[in-house]
Amino acid sequence: MRVAFFSTKSYDRQSFDHLLPDYKHKVTYFEAKLDRNTVALAKGHDAICTFVNDCLDETILDQLHEMGIKAIVLRCAGYNQVDLKMAAKLDIKLCRVPAYSPEAVAEHALALLMTLSRKTHKAYNRVRDNNYSIEGLTGFNINGKTTGVIGTGAIGKAFCKIMLGMGCKVLAYDIYENEELKRMGVRYMPLEELLAESDIISLHCPLNADTFHLINENTLSHMKDGVVLINTSRGALIDSKAVINALKSRKVGNLGIDVYEQEEDLFFQNRSEEILQDEQIARLMTFPNVLITGHQAFLTNEALVHISETTLQNLDELASGGKLSNEVKYQPKGHKN
Ligand code: NAD
Repeated sequence: MRVAFFSTKSYDRQSFDHLLPDYKHKVTYFEAKLDRNTVALAKGHDAICTFVNDCLDETILDQLHEMGIKAIVLRCAGYNQVDLKMAAKLDIKLCRVPAYSPEAVAEHALALLMTLSRKTHKAYNRVRDNNYSIEGLTGFNINGKTTGVIGTGAIGKAFCKIMLGMGCKVLAYDIYENEELKRMGVRYMPLEELLAESDIISLHCPLNADTFHLINENTLSHMKDGVVLINTSRGALIDSKAVINALKSRKVGNLGIDVYEQEEDLFFQNRSEEILQDEQIARLMTFPNVLITGHQAFLTNEALVHISETTLQNLDELASGGKLSNEVKYQPKGHKN
């Protein structure tokens, strides 16, 4: 297949170029993010390959269809950025890379948590400045704390196991319970109870109509004072305005996020010479107890290998017209994915 790759970085090209000689697909790499200004680049291809912040709304899908694009392969697990109903209507096939390395994301959630708990980001800068004062670096033990995990699919499950290993009591909320986790001692409960009992809360559910702004003024009010909130899932699970207020009132004691509600126009670019226009992320950055990374939880060597292998296999299956192992299908509300 002739495939247009959008939002490609050096690490994508490296991992795909390594494997491409073994496949028949002809790839064109574009650095540009897919949007209304760049969609024309797809012309002359059979399929496109996109990442988390590429826009696949109704208008773009329609334009892709007009150009003869028959398939979209996502280099990611989440697919909240795709208008699935429209893709189905246009008969554009969609495949993703499920669970390419749940541990990569779960370990990044732990990295955010441990950086916040021991302030290693501050210590690093102090020591490099010949400043060995440890005043203000008092942290907290994770061992013995209660951790609430929202969404116990592939990543949430890996995170539950890590936190059990850290000596935490682990609570979980999901629309489906995982029997293996229950046997390991994870306790499922209604969301409100989890929010009220947890010292640490980590989000691992997908973004959809039910989970949009799951963390809002109301749900924040149910949490313990000083709760640690970690989000490596999708930005819009958290209402940024509400969490800023909760940080100001100290309801949220620490916030670690790898994803941000308005990240589409910010992340994956060096903007260090630009004037930051997003007031909310600017405010979030002013808090001493907020740690932000730019959607890098997936970025390990192991995950990149898995992403490129699965994406090329997805393209093979699409080209052969056979069964699609990793197809994402439009499911009207009420269906289990
Ligand atoms: P998964 O599909 O294996 O698990 C998601 C879980 O969430 C499932 O158990 C599902 O039942 C549960 N869920 C669905 N709706 C829910 C709701 N309303 N309330 C509670 N739970 C609900 O997905 P995964 O591979 O574990 O990935 C989870 C999310 O992590 C993805 O959707 C993606 O947004 C995000 N992600 C982020 C990165 C990153 O680099 N930061 C990388 C990969 C994935």
